[in-house]
Amino acid sequence: MNRITGKTKLLGVIGDPIEHSLSPIMHNAAIEHMQIDFAYVPFHIRPEDLKTAIAGFEAIDLKGFSVTIPHKQSIMPLLSEITDVAKAIGAVNTVWKSDRGWSGTNTDIVGFIAPIKARNWKSSIALVLGNGGAARAVVAGCEQLGFSEIHVVGRSAEKLQEFAQSWAIDSLSVHTWDKLPELLSHADLIVNTTPIGMSPQSDQSPLNEAQAQLMKTNAIAYDLIYLPNPTKFLQQAQQKGIEAIDGLEMLVQQGAAALEIWTGRTVPNDVMRRSLRVHLGFE
Ligand code: NAP
Repeated sequence: MNRITGKTKLLGVIGDPIEHSLSPIMHNAAIEHMQIDFAYVPFHIRPEDLKTAIAGFEAIDLKGFSVTIPHKQSIMPLLSEITDVAKAIGAVNTVWKSDRGWSGTNTDIVGFIAPIKARNWKSSIALVLGNGGAARAVVAGCEQLGFSEIHVVGRSAEKLQEFAQSWAIDSLSVHTWDKLPELLSHADLIVNTTPIGMSPQSDQSPLNEAQAQLMKTNAIAYDLIYLPNPTKFLQQAQQKGIEAIDGLEMLVQQGAAALEIWTGRTVPNDVMRRSLRVHLGFE
């Protein structure tokens, strides 16, 4: 455990609820390994207290903080500057103190692309299941990786239209779930951004058994969920010999990118990953 003194610099995470956040585990593990004088603390901030909390952070000279549900959008008007990537996603998950005040960005996109960015995705087709907050980071990531087609599947035609209209991406198209079979048989990357299959609903998958058979054997299945590990969706992929990527790496990499912003130092991703795997009982 780091020794906290009067000189220790504070970082934190805000959310409501916050007690299940894994961020303190991985950030404090990295801080200890880096031997830097920081401490990362969870703060339970209710929506009605957000403005007061930010003023309080100013007063106690907090150096930066992570932002989780339900504050990722509502924090935006309280910041002095927001990066283009966070504006495009429409959500901020990382805030730091700059000369101009509080600055915000979104590191979910860096986290999402980290496990797949070494490949060449030009002329490839991405299929994104769900059209919520995480899907926005995934779409921005797929555009950055150069996918020639990005298909988003959702259950509400109205929300899908809003989603489509909020981007200026020519390769993006939106569909309702009934189009899934046709889309699955062409997709090179299939990303589950819905909570279907998340613990304790571990026996569920966004794909039924017949749909799972439609995935191409050389596709990659990517589930943003990290618990259970693997999810039913990833088990379906593995049974077909399809490469499966779970959400733990995204979680680690978005956190590492944030810690790099706050400390200006190279961050030990492996230490962060291991601390989470041990905490979650994976090793
Ligand atoms: P969100 O904003 O609530 O979006 C969830 C999406 O899933 C919405 O489009 C919703 O559809 C859809 N959905 C929910 N239940 C469904 C169902 N039964 N059938 C079909 N569609 C359904 O949530 P989020 O913040 O994007 O998070 C989504 C998932 O990603 C969660 O499991 C979260 O833990 C995970 N995540 C992981 C990371 C990571 O670092 N690994 C980061 C962010 C999120 P409607 O819009 O129609 O309601």
